[in-house]
Amino acid sequence: MEGKGKSDRHLTLLSDIDLAELSSVRDENDVFLSVYLPIGRKSDLNASYIASRSRDISKALGKDLSAVFGDTMEMVGEFLDGRPVPGERGRVVFASSRTGLLRKYRISVEPETRMVLDTSPFLLPLAMLQDEYEDLCLVLLDSRQARVMTVRSNILEDRERTKIDLMNKHKKGGWSQKRFNRLRRGAIHAFIREVASDLECIRQERMRGIIIAGPGEAKKMLAEELPKDLKDMVIGMVDTDIETPEGKLLSLAEEVASIDEREGEMRCVDELRAAIMKGEPASYGPGEVHTALTEARVRTLIILKGTSIPGWKCERCGRMVPGEAPPPECPACGGAPSVVDIVEEFFEMAETIGAFTEFVEDSPFLESLGGIAAILRY
Ligand SMILES: [Zn+2]
Repeated sequence: MEGKGKSDRHLTLLSDIDLAELSSVRDENDVFLSVYLPIGRKSDLNASYIASRSRDISKALGKDLSAVFGDTMEMVGEFLDGRPVPGERGRVVFASSRTGLLRKYRISVEPETRMVLDTSPFLLPLAMLQDEYEDLCLVLLDSRQARVMTVRSNILEDRERTKIDLMNKHKKGGWSQKRFNRLRRGAIHAFIREVASDLECIRQERMRGIIIAGPGEAKKMLAEELPKDLKDMVIGMVDTDIETPEGKLLSLAEEVASIDEREGEMRCVDELRAAIMKGEPASYGPGEVHTALTEARVRTLIILKGTSIPGWKCERCGRMVPGEAPPPECPACGGAPSVVDIVEEFFEMAETIGAFTEFVEDSPFLESLGGIAAILRY
């Protein structure tokens, strides 16, 4: 659900933003403005940042494009200055008065401050946030109550609550302790089965995984009760009190998700390493990866976070050269080349061909390959 045309005073979940669609948006000239602002603690600095970046960008532009930029700033000014809504930690906007593009997002996680004018929307920071904050399912239970929750963009939401009252339902006068225990076990089992079936609802949703939290044995019982595909989605079990407050639940979930994310990154780098060793389809370095992307052979693009490869690109013919300053005109077609971040260009190409992008926090191996590599389809 994207905030097109309707009120923009609501939070947008990261997983609801379609980057593939935005990746295909481009122009021959620098007409796309992208702004990322943290909201809250640091927002008093935003106005002066925007003012100073606007001056710098205007100065670097010719008269025509400077006018386009001015109009674009008018389109977004009110949104960038506006009061925050509850829970808002960041604001992101992509706009161009030339093409009419206007996307405004209030998000619940904090981005780093950026303001960029380019031939396409600058999506990399948003892509990395999406990678970091994938949706999660969190179950908190003991043997008599359960809450099924989702965590999306660091926002916790209750989905299902289930409860049994063992004492009132099952303890009647005159029962032997043995009979009571048997009935109690049966009731708990039925209860756990009910929680497992509550989890069916997340099957249709794209989730990083399921986290099971709570005191005692109920966690393990639930995991055993889950059908195989849901069981495979369990990324962690956490011992915690059934009364754990939501803030603490969120940080527990974040911790488990972050460990899972790092493990996923390592698996991805291991797969790359194995492919390179065995001579299976893989490529690394800007030149090779660019060729593979152009030929739509990339299955997974792997980017070491923090990698930046300056270069130039001709938007008219698509020629891209890493590591060089742009010539006055494109030697292939005579078009006007622009300075680009090759990594951002690669990400956009990967999105348009339906490849998956994995951002890796830390890997000396990947660093030794220049911070950019790809596992190929063939
Ligand atoms: Zn060209």
